[in-house]
This record gives sequence, structure tokens and C-alpha cells, in this order.
Amino acid sequence: MNVGIVTVGDELLSGETENTNASWLGRRLAERGVTVRRTVVVPDEVGEIAGETREFAERYDAAIVTGGLGPTHDDVTMDGVAAAFDRDVVEHPDAVAWFAERDGYHNSDLAEGTTFLPEDARVLPNEEGVAPGAVVENVYVLPGVPAEMKAMFESVESEFEGERTHVEVVHSEQPESALVDALTEVQEQFDVTVGSYPGDGVRIRVGSPDPETAEAAAAWLRERV
Ligand code: ATP
Ligand code: MG
Repeated sequence: MNVGIVTVGDELLSGETENTNASWLGRRLAERGVTVRRTVVVPDEVGEIAGETREFAERYDAAIVTGGLGPTHDDVTMDGVAAAFDRDVVEHPDAVAWFAERDGYHNSDLAEGTTFLPEDARVLPNEEGVAPGAVVENVYVLPGVPAEMKAMFESVESEFEGERTHVEVVHSEQPESALVDALTEVQEQFDVTVGSYPGDGVRIRVGSPDPETAEAAAAWLRERV
């Protein structure tokens, strides 16, 4: 399964907020064997959100959009996602019903717009906050607040499935340039994907759907690097 992620927020583009949602989602999806093909950051603008959402929805099995769900004037994500599918944003009966059942909320207490979602969306309740999320066709719209985003993602994560990759990590103190031959050869000898990440030494990542293959390739590498 291939997924694209659209993270929304001017504060992400300016670097005021670190895009921890993208890295958290990337990790969680990878653990499930789902491949994130692309992550983009877009401003709080309807046109930009609509354009990227439409493209990712067409190109990938699913898209995840996070941030900009609240009812304040700068939160326009639901408008953008609705525009991507040529739908209107309407007061959603399931969102109204969910708030009506939830202790402590009356529709009159909610900021205007909180129950407005793209027409015919599936509502995702926000157990950690207020603004609900939504699923529109293959697009999952989640809040920006990390705790809210995580809880809502966990409520739908079973819908994200792929072939799991078993990963082995090998460390080397040699410079990356000295590893080229070994990294090429291990891929010829074993059916694995290999990545090398220089930093404190070089971290070599060996991946395969089959754990024994990944372990054998890692053992082969450990003897040579
Ligand atoms: P709310 O309903 O509370 O308004 P929201 O869905 O509208 O939430 P935003 O307004 O976009 O979310 O952001 C809320 C908070 O979450 C801000 O502090 C923002 O910086 C932070 N945030 C948003 N997106 C991300 C992200 N991708 N990574 C980390 N933090 C984020
Ligand atoms: Mg907001």
C-alpha cells in the first residue's frame, strides 16, 4: 500500500513548528508495511491543500492530511479537502450527533464551523480534543495537534496495511566510500533492500519481508564492514 502525506500549516513552512507529525506517521506506517511515497508541507490555503490532496488521492492508495482542522479563520483544511473532490462543506449530521452524545458539549457551545465537514464524509471523532476528523473517499483528514492526530490515526490504522519489512541494522566505522562494494554485493547475493546512513559511523539498514533473509544478509555484511 502506497500513501502520500499532506501536512498543513504556515508554522511548519517557517520552521516555527517542527513537523513531528510527518515523522511519526512515517514510522507508524512503515511499521505496518505501508510505503509513504511522498510527504509535502503546504500553507493554510484552500487552493494549495486542494491541489496536493487531489493529486495524492489519485496517485496513491490513500492520502493523509493533517493540521488546520479547527474552526478558526486560519483553519481551512476541510474546505481544501472538500474542494479536491468538488464537494461542499456542510453541517454534518454525524458530527452534530456525536457532540450531542458527548458529555459537556452542546451545539451552542461549539465554535461555529466545528461540525462542518465535506459532504458525505465519514466522521472521525476526536477523543483527545474537539475538532472532528473525516474520511473522504481515500483521504484521511486528521488534526494537527500531535496528541489528537496520534489518537485519531490509531482509530483508523487497521485500514492501513502492507507487507511488513523486517529490518536489521549493521554499524560500520569505515567511511561510506569504503563500503560501496560490500553494499552492492550484498544486494546481489540476497533479496534485500539496503540503505546506508552516515552519521556516527555508518548505519546500514537491511530490509526484507523475510526475517531470515534480512538476518543472513546482515550477518554477511557484519563480517565484511
Ligand atoms: P485545533 O483544532 O486545535 O485548531 P488543528 O487541527 O487546527 O487543531 P493546527 O491549528 O494546524 O491544528 O495546529 C495545532 C497545533 O498543532 C499547533 O501548535 C501546531 O503547531 C501543531 N501542529 C500542527 N501540525 C503539526 C505537525 N505536522 N507536526 C507537529 N505539530 C503540528
Ligand atoms: Mg488550528
